Amino acid sequence: MWQVVGQSRAVSLLKRSLEKGAIAHAYLFIGPPHVGKMTLALNLAQALNCEASEPPCGVCNSCQRIASAKHSDVQIIGLASAGNTDEAKTRTEISIDQIRQVQHQAYLPPFEGKYKLFIIDGAQHLSTEAANCLLKTLEEPVGRVVFILLTANFSLLPATVVSRCQRLELLPLAAGEVETALSSRWGIEPQKAKLLARLCHGCFGWALSAALDDSLLRQRSERQDRILDIIIADYEERFTYAAELAGQFSQRRGLVWEILDLWLDFWRDLLLVKVGFGEAITNVDLEAKLADLARDFSLAEIRAVISSLLSAGDELRQNANPRLVLEVLMLGIPRGQGERVLR
Ligand SMILES: [Zn+2]
Repeated sequence: MWQVVGQSRAVSLLKRSLEKGAIAHAYLFIGPPHVGKMTLALNLAQALNCEASEPPCGVCNSCQRIASAKHSDVQIIGLASAGNTDEAKTRTEISIDQIRQVQHQAYLPPFEGKYKLFIIDGAQHLSTEAANCLLKTLEEPVGRVVFILLTANFSLLPATVVSRCQRLELLPLAAGEVETALSSRWGIEPQKAKLLARLCHGCFGWALSAALDDSLLRQRSERQDRILDIIIADYEERFTYAAELAGQFSQRRGLVWEILDLWLDFWRDLLLVKVGFGEAITNVDLEAKLADLARDFSLAEIRAVISSLLSAGDELRQNANPRLVLEVLMLGIPRGQGERVLR
């Protein structure tokens, strides 16, 4: 059975290709992080190498070896697979050496299975030389070799590489679909499944990781508490917070984007509550606090905060001074009253 949750369009297209024996030499799976690209790629690798009559069975020796990353004909290439040296760990590109090795191995016949698969995770990280080298391999397809490139943003890949691949788009799942899969397939309790389904914004992999590892939800709670504190805080505390975020921006940019996304979710929720559409909020565990806080702000104020958050994101992407952007943002947020918001 196909393990990937949702993505029925992509799965049925791949199933049809398998039935017709019309598998492409290269695929490009496009979709946001954690939406299921790697799971689908591994499922396709299983389907092509499965020993059962209805592939992928998930239980035969081949399927199991692929699932546990032990199959010698299925390789994952990405930033994480560059090696264990200090230099490899800090790499920001998939190097030409990594692709040369792939090129060499692609010409050898499958070792234990029927097909060789090379999964290139984060294909947007291919260096220009690596992408050119890969292009040569894609232009001269070898039998029983399939390349699967995974990316969240295919516009960062050379058009020549994209044009050699069959493109499959993986879309975020509906919250209901995530909730049902978490409860029925993983036995997650209903309230937690509902919360995770909202928080993951359609990216099932994140919801599942958070269901299995409590630290992700704990971390979110801490960040969320800080947001509540800042909304009722004075200028001095807001300055300190802005400086902290700006300091992190140079080192761990991704973390600041995550925090700004939480801010955005929070104010979007306030907007939804304000207009009487509270059932659609993301932070279902903060329902009571959101209802309280929504009374402190007018609709115009809430909309203004959302648009400042969006503009701050744009300015940061355009390399504006992060400290200045974040200070202006934090000082411009209207102050909540606090008494009712206390935990
Ligand atoms: Zn199998």
